[in-house]
Amino acid sequence: MEREYDVVVVGAGAAGIGAAVGAARNGARTLLVESESAPGGDLVTGLPILGACNARGEWVAGGVLRDLLERVDALGGYIGPVCDWRAVHGVCVDPEALRLVLAAALRESGVRLLLSAIAAGVDVSEGTITGVRVVTRSGQHDVRARYLVDATGDASLCALAGAPVCAGDGQDHFQPLSLVFRVAGVDFEALLNFAEENPGEFLLAESPVMPTDPRECARRLRERGYPYLALSASGSLLGRRIGDGSLFPCTAFFLTPTSLAKRELCVNATRLADVDATDPEQRSKAYGSLAAQAEAALHFMKAELPGCREIVLSAVAHRVGVRETRRIHGEKTLGTEAVIHGLDAPDGIARGAHHVDIHGSGTHQVRIPVRDGGSYAIPFGCLIPRGLRNLLAAGRCLSSTREANGSARVMGTCLATGEAAGTAAALAAARGLKDIRQIPVADLRDTLAAQGAIL
Ligand SMILES: Cc1cc2nc3c(=O)[nH]c(=O)nc-3n(C[C@H](O)[C@H](O)[C@H](O)COP(=O)(O)OP(=O)(O)OC[C@H]3O[C@@H](n4cnc5c(N)ncnc54)[C@H](O)[C@@H]3O)c2cc1C
Repeated sequence: MEREYDVVVVGAGAAGIGAAVGAARNGARTLLVESESAPGGDLVTGLPILGACNARGEWVAGGVLRDLLERVDALGGYIGPVCDWRAVHGVCVDPEALRLVLAAALRESGVRLLLSAIAAGVDVSEGTITGVRVVTRSGQHDVRARYLVDATGDASLCALAGAPVCAGDGQDHFQPLSLVFRVAGVDFEALLNFAEENPGEFLLAESPVMPTDPRECARRLRERGYPYLALSASGSLLGRRIGDGSLFPCTAFFLTPTSLAKRELCVNATRLADVDATDPEQRSKAYGSLAAQAEAALHFMKAELPGCREIVLSAVAHRVGVRETRRIHGEKTLGTEAVIHGLDAPDGIARGAHHVDIHGSGTHQVRIPVRDGGSYAIPFGCLIPRGLRNLLAAGRCLSSTREANGSARVMGTCLATGEAAGTAAALAAARGLKDIRQIPVADLRDTLAAQGAIL
């Protein structure tokens, strides 16, 4: 194994994919280290890609993301943006096609991929990371890099390097973990008809830029033909089962299409709040409970949800989904007001557009829209951890208030901040800079724009 790289990216979720491809396309010898046995993270579970479009349906993320989507389309796995007539336009894809596309994109851009490998330690000298210890089944490897990108979701590399971080709400409260799954054989039409006849069973018409009448929203959903629906805990169907204790408390069953041909939906319903997912014991224990919830959810859908009588379980996510752990304290912090008011920034390197979306325990969830259904800029400084010269952080661990993170944590935005971080790292390595802060942001923005990023 080679020991020297221009850029090492740790974590191959949405942010890490964006970072590694971004770095390699800019000429950097790039290593992507991932503890799981395949890249992709939540991207390949079937969840819709949020933050790619704003609530008005305009694209706000481009670059690597759009390239990946084009290739998914060529494999017949692309549904595209679907409006839920509640609050979002989520980009729906078949995750199995995306798995192949991610592998191809990494391979073709020349990224060296190291799977089943954990970055377990770093050497730091005067604010510069001089080496990373990577542990694999065959032992420990010491890797050196000019620049590194922490795309671990958990800010693990930053924490290992001694950079300041914070976690959850600061008082041991964390957004819930969830285990998503997919079901095939759904009668889309019957489910959409049920929604049109019973709009009160679903979350609809929550956005100020969408129609205010839930019935009208349900009608538009049926017209589009894809059941992108949130069966609400406030409705009688789900509410009754939560009330009688036969189902776990949740806000909603978020149902999103992954394939018309397979009649397949992704189901995001299970939840276990206030688990610190950076603690392996807590995280492992959660797996069993969430799997039991998924089983209960499947039985419920089959027995009670119209259009789902014939469903079969087609996939269970390969890992427990984690919404929230640690965030870095960066040179800049993405603020709550900037998100809610959709503010621009001269040093913006990506855009976010998802509403502030903080799931709580039980049926609790905070949702605050971005003004006018627009988007906001993410300043470069949000990716730069304080006190370190050659490390960037991208994805959900970027520097942000808890509320801002509730928006910026979605996959379209993570991919975009990842691409920005990887591109910045490659530029800094190529120029022989000793500190990422020496990159003129205008140069970075020009490079990103030339790659198709939307700033
Ligand atoms: C249940 C659930 C539903 C969601 N719904 C949506 C949705 O509908 N749409 C949407 O866009 N977003 C959704 N999100 C949010 C989104 O999926 C995540 O916030 C986003 O994928 C985070 O991407 P990331 O790359 O920052 O981190 P992650 O996806 O967490 O990736 C980090 C990667 O780093 C690896 N890693 C960590 N530490 C190390 C280490 N030390 N060494 C090596 N590898 C390491 C991990 O294995 C992982 O693959 C949801 C999240 C959850 C949990």
